[in-house]
Amino acid sequence: MKEYEIYELLKKYGINTPKYEVFDIDAPLYFDRFPAVLKIASDKVVHKSDVGGVRVGIDSPEELEVARQEVVENLQQRGIFLDINDKFIVEEFVQGEEFYIGGLYDTIFEEILLFGKGGTLIEIEKDVCYIDTQANKEEILRSFKTTKISKMFPTFRGKKYRLEFVVDVVQKFQKLFINENIEQFDVNPLIYTDEGFVAVDARLKPGKKQKRAKRIRSSNIFANQNIAIFGATDKENKVGYALAKNSLSSSANIYFVNPHLDTLFGKKVYKSIDELPPIDTAVIAIPAHLVLELIEELGKRGVKNIIVISAGFKEVGNKEAEEKMASLARKYDLNVIGPNCLGIYNSQKNLNLTFARASILPGNIALISQSGAVLTALIDKAYTHSLGFSHIISLGNMADFDFADAINAMEQEENCIYINIYAEGLQNGKSYLEAIRNTNKPIAIYKAGKTKEAKKAAFSHTGNISGDYDMLIGLSYAAGAIIKEDIDELIFASQFAHFSEVLIITNAGGPGTILTDLVVQHGKKIYRLSKQEIEQLNAILPSTWSHNNPVDIIGDATAQRYQKTLEVLYKPHLLIFVLVTPQFMTEPLPIAKIITKYKNVIPIFFGEESFKEVFNYFQEQKVLYFNDLENVANIL
Ligand code: ADP
Ligand code: MG
Repeated sequence: MKEYEIYELLKKYGINTPKYEVFDIDAPLYFDRFPAVLKIASDKVVHKSDVGGVRVGIDSPEELEVARQEVVENLQQRGIFLDINDKFIVEEFVQGEEFYIGGLYDTIFEEILLFGKGGTLIEIEKDVCYIDTQANKEEILRSFKTTKISKMFPTFRGKKYRLEFVVDVVQKFQKLFINENIEQFDVNPLIYTDEGFVAVDARLKPGKKQKRAKRIRSSNIFANQNIAIFGATDKENKVGYALAKNSLSSSANIYFVNPHLDTLFGKKVYKSIDELPPIDTAVIAIPAHLVLELIEELGKRGVKNIIVISAGFKEVGNKEAEEKMASLARKYDLNVIGPNCLGIYNSQKNLNLTFARASILPGNIALISQSGAVLTALIDKAYTHSLGFSHIISLGNMADFDFADAINAMEQEENCIYINIYAEGLQNGKSYLEAIRNTNKPIAIYKAGKTKEAKKAAFSHTGNISGDYDMLIGLSYAAGAIIKEDIDELIFASQFAHFSEVLIITNAGGPGTILTDLVVQHGKKIYRLSKQEIEQLNAILPSTWSHNNPVDIIGDATAQRYQKTLEVLYKPHLLIFVLVTPQFMTEPLPIAKIITKYKNVIPIFFGEESFKEVFNYFQEQKVLYFNDLENVANIL
């Protein structure tokens, strides 16, 4: 498509373009709006200015004629000879700041827009953001605000820049990209003017885009009252043993199935599916080659929830079996989790259908993970620090049930307050973003694989500046997710998310200052001591105390001094850090014992050798503690 044809398409969607005239290659040029721009429109030229095919700042008909001679010569010098298929465009010169908008079709996210600073340095500056074609106004703005150029809004050097124009032009391109058969496009520059944005250059690649069918689920994955574990076994080294053992604590009805066993943990073992009473949930830990047949049987019997623990599918190249599994899920309207997963957990029924080694404590975080191994590590850590979960979902290979399904499932679960996700890769990006957009719960995501591998595409800027990690993170953030940089934050941060104010009690000034920085950087406030509190502290602390929060109670602080300070300042709505450095007078263990008497008081024993006994004590007591300052950020 030639530039002027694209202009007509843009106009159809209400997108402004400059006034222009098109001329045959040897027709006389005339134009009455100056300053004007002359451009070549030829299929032989991709980036016009690279070959001298654009002349700006033309002020008269005479200059226009000169410009035309120059363009023809420039092209000839580069071996480009014009013919009757080529045209000249003469158009208005548009004054304003140069932006850029592009669209690409991604196999995961489908149609995605890129928007940001335009101009010739776009590939170097990469000052762009990602916007989903389904993004609403709020989301468009959240995304745009991550760019540097957005700082010009609402005013820059005395000139007004209107965000409504940004939303308006993005929404128009969203419509255009969804409706038209365009695979990729880019508009550079898209010029900001007082009347709105004007597209003065556009390139596009036609092509049909594939649409993924949306999966509507009719049953709740956590409606588990009658559960069968296929592959339950007495062999301690097998997954089926751990699953059976972990399931015993539940209030739901659990049935074990194994053709070679009579009883397990004092319960009857059923020989086959035919002997079983009606069930709603099946956990499958049998050899991979028997799994599909079993799912078909379960589907026929109306069992809705199936958790496939068994491995040996896509991860070992067995793609076909996994595709079959997905089609069975659709055929019988099933929720199939896995294969190759750790299982699920629901605190409400104390239902542990995982083969994790460590026990799982109840809490208010739903942890959704693609990797079973990462999940076991986090469960282990959480138990050490007495942290719990409302739900755990190990997604495994995601043949059927994916991130979007997991997020949607959490919407109805009252005991889930936070949704935390560990992701490696996605398959269905649009439904994932929609789930984030629609949830009312805080949702945090950690994405593995950060290398910024840019996709190569010679066609446009759009292909050159987009990167997989950046795109996933940018889109997730815009849709409303909190992006986590450290895996540990997935289990720690939510526990303290509701505290907005922080109190620091310390026996050293420096570490107190470092901690203050961390607290403020993570968006929490430093609590202001009241006059009364300061007076009370004056009565019990040496006169050199800081008279401020961080409350520096001086290097010679004893356990008793920590105790008295806490007695004056403790408040249940404050997140309190008690910082201890190993000084000569410090009594580590007595201080530790005082701290554990309080809720929401987090000990930071900044040191190593002098605190060995204290760390053992905390581990025994399952108390969350820190031995450095940097990691404290994980809970902020
Ligand atoms: P290409 O990107 O193919 O080299 P453009 O049409 O984008 O060609 O023109 C090159 C540059 O000339 C633009 O980036 C812009 O700075 C300027 N330009 C082109 N057309 C106009 C116009 N109508 N008004 C103002 N500036 C223009
Ligand atoms: Mg251009």
